[in-house]
Formats: sequence, structure tokens, C-alpha cells
Amino acid sequence: MRALVFDSFGGPLTVQDVPVPDPAPGGVVVRVGASGVCRSDWHAWQGHDPDVVLPHVPGHELAGTVAAVGADVRRWRVGDRVTVPFVNACGRCAQCAAGEHQVCSRQTQPGFTHWGSMAEYVALDAADVNLVALPDELDATTAAGLGCRFATAFRAVAQVARVRPGEWVAVHGCGGVGLSAVQVAVAAGARVVAVDVSPAALQLAAAIGAEHTVDGGRDVPAVVAELTGGGAHVSLDALGAAVTCENSVRSLRPRGRHVQVGLLPPAQGRPAVPMDLVVARELQVLGSHGMAAHTYPELLGLIAAGRLRPQALVTRRLPLDEAGAALAAVGRDPGIAVVTRF
Ligand SMILES: [Zn+2]
Ligand SMILES: [Zn+2]
Repeated sequence: MRALVFDSFGGPLTVQDVPVPDPAPGGVVVRVGASGVCRSDWHAWQGHDPDVVLPHVPGHELAGTVAAVGADVRRWRVGDRVTVPFVNACGRCAQCAAGEHQVCSRQTQPGFTHWGSMAEYVALDAADVNLVALPDELDATTAAGLGCRFATAFRAVAQVARVRPGEWVAVHGCGGVGLSAVQVAVAAGARVVAVDVSPAALQLAAAIGAEHTVDGGRDVPAVVAELTGGGAHVSLDALGAAVTCENSVRSLRPRGRHVQVGLLPPAQGRPAVPMDLVVARELQVLGSHGMAAHTYPELLGLIAAGRLRPQALVTRRLPLDEAGAALAAVGRDPGIAVVTRF
């Protein structure tokens, strides 16, 4: 099969012929219909993720069709249209037993712990726990973004921050996950302030409902405080950088909730979180990591009802041969790029 491969961290990203994977007894192999290009893939390529072993195939935001099924799989058949969260849970640990599959102790992640979906086929573990059936009306390209960025944003806004109508939500970083968060927060009835250094990203944020946009080069906490009459109720670092993390915490009003959504690989250094404000303002600092497969029906229902429109965030469709260049340039162009031809 054709796959996007890198043999060294930060090295060339080339399309190579590699063997088609076999399914594990509890797993499946999916013929990839679409695979999103995400900042996490860039981190894997840069060597920021200790799970990645060379040579490696990135890709973790996928949708496709089941092509082979392991002997122990009960719920899935060849030909089923599916997607998966990027955290593939084991289904058996204490976290999984509590329904918190997104923080499974024995999780696998396609594109990190094993070869991913920037390929014609990808192997997925524990299929009965992790696969999500796609409704007929949801195309693979739209669905590809659900497993990482859109679901991550949905969980952060709706399940972790529990955003309520009328609250002010500041979103720091308007890449794929940030724009998704803007859309989910607007749908929840919140008023959104979007922050980014890219005018094009801010334009897109405004187009999907952000009430205010703020240039990330300004004194962001001061501007957010002014726009929101004292600070946001909820603030998200949707990029994962020292400056956006700190700005997010500083953008909150007393008793506000910061949600860390963007990954902060220790290899890039740990951010200085203003814990003095956490105490003085009784702020809550929350983490959000993907979303369990069993909570997808709520998200899929809102998409089916037209309340959420993840397809509005897909700005580019690429062949696999252009995936390497797109991955290397993550963050340069606004919106979500999806590999749709393999
Ligand atoms: Zn588990
Ligand atoms: Zn992702």
C-alpha cells in the first residue's frame, strides 16, 4: 500500500510502498477514506512524542471502511463505515470501566504508538470499544476531523468546561481545534472572543460566529478583559504554547475555568502557569484529552440536526502525495486540510 513515511525526526516525508497491516485479534484494518492533517502529526514528525518509533507513518484523524476484522471482534463487519477517537482505549482498565476512555491507562493511538492513517490502510486496536459507526449522510472528509480536533473541542467546551448560554469564552489559537471550539461554543449559546496571530484564521473565526477577534500580538488578557467586562468565564488554550497557555489563564475573570486543549510536549519546555492568579481568583485549571467513543452520539446528533457544521472548517482536500508538504507547513494556512486521495 502507499503510505506517507518519515525515517528520521524532522527528515523527509515521502510516499513509499509498505505492507498492508493485519488486524489484531480484537482489532480491524480500515481502508482510509480521509485523514486530517493535524498539529499532533507535526509533533510526531518533530520527535516530540516518545511513543513514536522510526520509521513511522503519521495520521490519527481518520474515517474509512472496515476492510479486515480480527477473530475476536463482535460488533463490526467488512464494509462498515467508521471513524475512531484518536485515543483508542483498551476497554478493560479502571479508567475504561468508569467510562473515561479518553484517559485509558493502556491506550493506543494510530499515528503515534503504531503506524497511522496517512496510508491506504490503518490498523486499529480494540475495535468493539473504539469504532464509531458513521451515519450515511456524514461523508468521510467531514468525519475525519471528528476523531481529533472537533471531538476534542466538543469535549473541552461541552463536557469539561460545561459552557452555559451567555458566558464569555476566549479561544486562544484558531487552528483546527480552536475553530472547532469557536463553533461548539457559539452553538452552546456562548459569546466568543477568538485570538490568533493570523488575520486569515481570525476571519474564519468571525465567519463561524466569534463576536470579537483579537490579534495575538497585543496584550491579550487586557483586551479580553475589556471586551468581556472583566474577563472570560471560560478560556481555552487551543494551540498548546507557553504564551497561549499563560494568556488563557490571565484572560479569566474570578472563578473562571481554563481548559488546556493544545498539546504541550515537554520537549518544547513547560509553560509558566500564573498560579498566583489561580489562587487569588479561584480559577479552575482543567485538562481535556480527546473524547470517548461512547459519547459520540451526542456530537453526531448535533451535526445531523445542523447545529454543528464541522465541514465548514475543511478548507483543503489533498492527495497523499501532497500530505508531506501540508504536514510540514501545519498552521500556515487557516482551516483544516484533509487527505482524501490515496
Ligand atoms: Zn483502558
Ligand atoms: Zn489531531
